Amino acid sequence: MSDWERNRERMVKEQIEGRGIQDARVLQAMLKIPRHQFVSEKYQKQAYDDTPLPIECGQTISQPYMVGLMTEKLALTGTEKVLEIGTGSGYQTALLATLARVVYTIERHETLYLNSKLLFKNMGIQNILSFLGDGTKGLLQYQPYDRIIVTAGAPIISPYLIDQLAEGGIMVIPVGSATHQELIVGTKLGQELKQKKTCGCVFVPLIGESGWNNEN
Ligand code: SAM
Repeated sequence: MSDWERNRERMVKEQIEGRGIQDARVLQAMLKIPRHQFVSEKYQKQAYDDTPLPIECGQTISQPYMVGLMTEKLALTGTEKVLEIGTGSGYQTALLATLARVVYTIERHETLYLNSKLLFKNMGIQNILSFLGDGTKGLLQYQPYDRIIVTAGAPIISPYLIDQLAEGGIMVIPVGSATHQELIVGTKLGQELKQKKTCGCVFVPLIGESGWNNEN
């Protein structure tokens, strides 16, 4: 077993399972995906620490626990079509691709879009379709989605995303101010999103038409 694998095993045991994540498929996927490959060399040694880390374009790869929690809340069984807003490093996308049928992911920074796309190709992941643009508008051409996950902090839940979620589908999204949000888990019932607050969290802002409109 390599040092990376040992560190990953410790991360899953202490930070993920140890804090209550129980979905065996999520735990297995987190054991499998090499998180250190999604950060620059400078941060690789910290890749399995209990912390978000800087990535390019002033963005972050989220804390492993938050990634595990959001993924568990999506309740994936392997058959779902997932829309992810905020590809970032691509780590969460790779996890979702292990757990769902297909993942459509949107990133607004070209560098992150290109880097993550290359990483997926090099890792041989074939069920991710990457897009560059404003994810607050969703991705009309492939709707409806069984699951939608937003990995940046939103001021509101975009009506485009509610529209594009399938009946009975689940959305996970941090909603609040630019500096602090509540993690919302929503289920679509008719035209409504029935919402439940999960916990407080801190994400970089979601920038776009139904997000924040500047880069502060
Ligand atoms: N889950 C990611 C990971 O594992 O690396 C972390 C994503 S990071 C916390 C949030 C990402 O959302 C950033 O890369 C940011 O550029 C992106 N973002 C912000 N607003 C966006 C928008 N309207 N559309 C698409 N991406 C957006």
